[in-house]
Amino acid sequence: MVLVVGHRIASDPLSSRIAMTHASCRFCGTSLEHVFADLGMSPLSNSNVPVERANAMEPFYPLCALVCHSCFLVQLEDFESPQHIFDEQYAYFSSYSSSWLAHCRRYVEQTTDTLGLDASSQVIELASNDGYLLQYFVERGIPALGIEPSANTARVAIDRGVPTRVEFWGKQTARAVTAAGTRADLLLGNNVLAHVPDINDFVAGMKIALKEGGTITIEFPHLLKLIELNQWDTIYHEHFSYLSFSTVARIFAAHGLRLFDVEEIPTHGGSLRVFGCHADDSRERSAAAGELLEEELAAGLEELGTYLDYGARVIEDKRQILELLIALKRAGYAIAGYGAAAKGNTLLNYCGVGRDFLDFTCDANPGKQGHLLPGTHVPILAPDAIRERRPDVVLILPWNIKDEIMEELSYIREWDGRFAARSPELRLFP
Ligand SMILES: [Zn+2]
Repeated sequence: MVLVVGHRIASDPLSSRIAMTHASCRFCGTSLEHVFADLGMSPLSNSNVPVERANAMEPFYPLCALVCHSCFLVQLEDFESPQHIFDEQYAYFSSYSSSWLAHCRRYVEQTTDTLGLDASSQVIELASNDGYLLQYFVERGIPALGIEPSANTARVAIDRGVPTRVEFWGKQTARAVTAAGTRADLLLGNNVLAHVPDINDFVAGMKIALKEGGTITIEFPHLLKLIELNQWDTIYHEHFSYLSFSTVARIFAAHGLRLFDVEEIPTHGGSLRVFGCHADDSRERSAAAGELLEEELAAGLEELGTYLDYGARVIEDKRQILELLIALKRAGYAIAGYGAAAKGNTLLNYCGVGRDFLDFTCDANPGKQGHLLPGTHVPILAPDAIRERRPDVVLILPWNIKDEIMEELSYIREWDGRFAARSPELRLFP
């Protein structure tokens, strides 16, 4: 029998499955019937495994992004309580990335100037982590309050002089904050809106805590980039919603808020910083905001078919990634990974890439070193391991900072080592 292999990707039976779920949209309540990207079963991406737990059972959960045919919010179903995700083991400390800190410092300078913030103003940050950003407001004498659900991270913030409440954000916390006499001139949240299970309660809380004439800024990875640049590996369990400007505008409008401006920023492979205010605020919508709405419309983000077509591209990408990695192994190359973050874990688990491909991975965060990646159990070592073991290929998992990493590891060329990274398809770099 001859097997004819053509390019019939669009008719792949796996590509536009009907969702096997009883879930409803976390924004508008419509029942969810359509699959955007099904990445199989996966462990929680930040649950690195201590070596002594290597033989223990590990929970896996479905990693399947669905799209609401009514409001086009791309989302995961609920699967675990957020208390579990953001427990004391939560391994993410923002302050470890130098490029991220530089981004935050610029943000603080810019907003202080444009909004005219001073000692009489109030800044509130939602999911303020270890005070990585608010520290720059505190430095300038601008009153700042952090809201952070993870107690160990909040402790670091308090120790560096950033007032912080250990709480999840929502209407209840917003009422407690305003009852204590605090309302925000600037209310900000970086990379948090996409991570909250109850997006309505979160945005309703912002409405309550925003002073009249106050400004909201929210940053999140842009769904348009996820689709255009095939960034499906940014899908992971802690990341509940995948947001476009249009969907966030709809969600804000439902809570008496309005988006009046937007900036496209390079973080996380292409993010938006949106600017919001009370619905009755006098500020007019900027040209940039109008143009982005048009751009999303032209890209098909308000049509179901655009979302249904995506799954086939993810499957094709998995095949291409495996083809390259298999070719490298057949040629006898030793491959090491770089990075031990969410993105990499989604890719490795979905593609089934473990120690049969990667000898180890490394990460600059000492808290991760000596552990195993969840699911694949690839050992996490300090970056020095690359110089010691001289792998032929370094697979850079956090492709959004690949230039920074290639620069840092440029010494692998001493032994003709090469880099591999997604850009957006997986390829080798000279
Ligand atoms: Zn919906």
